[in-house]
Amino acid sequence: MKWDNVYPWEGKANIPQEGQFIKLKEDKSLEVPDNPIIPYIEGDGIGPEIAPAMIHVVNTAVERAYGGKRKIYWVELLAGDKAEEKTGKRMPEETLEVLKTAIVSIKGPLGTPVGKGGKSLNAILRQSMDFYSAIRPVYWLGQPAPIPNPERVNVAVFRENSDDVYMSIEYMPRAENTQKVREFFIKEMGVSEYALPEDCGITVKPMSEYKTKRHVRKALRWALENNKKVVAVVGKGNIMKATEGAFINWAFEVAKEPEFEGRVITEGEPKEGQVLMVRVITDQMLMQLVLKPEAYDVIITQNLNGDYISDLASALVGGPGFVPSGNIGDGYALFESTHGTAYDIAGKGMANPLSLTLSGAMMLEYLGWKEPAELIYQAVRRAIGDRLGTPDIANGFRKMGLEAKELSTFDFAKAIAERIG
Ligand code: NAD
Repeated sequence: MKWDNVYPWEGKANIPQEGQFIKLKEDKSLEVPDNPIIPYIEGDGIGPEIAPAMIHVVNTAVERAYGGKRKIYWVELLAGDKAEEKTGKRMPEETLEVLKTAIVSIKGPLGTPVGKGGKSLNAILRQSMDFYSAIRPVYWLGQPAPIPNPERVNVAVFRENSDDVYMSIEYMPRAENTQKVREFFIKEMGVSEYALPEDCGITVKPMSEYKTKRHVRKALRWALENNKKVVAVVGKGNIMKATEGAFINWAFEVAKEPEFEGRVITEGEPKEGQVLMVRVITDQMLMQLVLKPEAYDVIITQNLNGDYISDLASALVGGPGFVPSGNIGDGYALFESTHGTAYDIAGKGMANPLSLTLSGAMMLEYLGWKEPAELIYQAVRRAIGDRLGTPDIANGFRKMGLEAKELSTFDFAKAIAERIG
């Protein structure tokens, strides 16, 4: 399938004259032209298979919704294996520059080579534009799932993305630095040797008011805009008082800010235009998600808890292959599939393109293009309802004793596109 609005990398990023860059206004909202330039990074492993599938579905939906009045101009940027092969660098400077200029972009999975030095490409991307909230809306579209009545799951996980143990402040067991840190705690701070034995390693878990509050505001605004009712602030504040406990307290302070007055309540029944904010301990939430997933619409949490919670929530609807995600900062946004590179099935046409395709729909909503996003959700429901899918989906149906038709990655995308509108 060839589209005239896709501009592959050709020795450099190929910026089309016909497209325009999205602009960031002073209040950090977006000014989106009808012909926005959206960079895409294919990604490693199955990336070159799922990226064209996503583009095909998104293009079809935009065309169907706006009849040519609006059109995305897709510009390929390199990162990961392809970038290394073509430029000798896994993350060329050009990629970061164009991503910044374009404000909104989308990517497939990027591999982290084991045993080679260097920072994770995903971490470089997330930090380069301060994407401080990772958002994973988890909902069910009819696919085989491991729980009864998976339609009960409809929860958006807002994971703080710029704090916590991911800051990599680590002291390895028995290293010289670790002994210095231990000595400081034992001699200067009165910590016992029992708590910090000679052979221990230490990971530092920073959590700040500024980073927490900006994340919570983003989640609350999203909850209100999307008419959600129950927002849970999740953490293990009873044990980690200085970090997760502080996070929860700061979240409740945000609820009292003038912007949210009367709209975010902390007790009682939420009325039209209101959300109820509650606190839930992490282990409770993990249990509740399995037993009573319908109880929560939005989960606001820290980086590490968000990692666990979003994977559990994704598993409830069939796994990360079905769940989209967005990394969002002050206006800047990078949407991405939630699974990894799946090198084991790369090049075989077996990859499920839904996570990236639904991330494309999420990106359209972010641009304010809600009509084509809705067309994609409906078409995916129809295709799955017709029991079509890549081998993972078809096998899931067969395990339920149902017949299903197995399609390749791109044929599945075509089947979705045929069901648009
Ligand atoms: P993975 O998600 O790549 O694979 C786990 C299993 O799920 C494999 O059996 C794979 O075949 C299957 N799978 C994954 N996506 C699939 C899809 N779309 N359709 C069908 N089956 C699918 O996880 P991994 O093996 O732990 O990680 C591989 C690499 O991906 C690592 O280098 C890791 O760092 C990277 N990774 C990147 C991201 C990202 O870019 N955001 C996220 C997770 C992992």
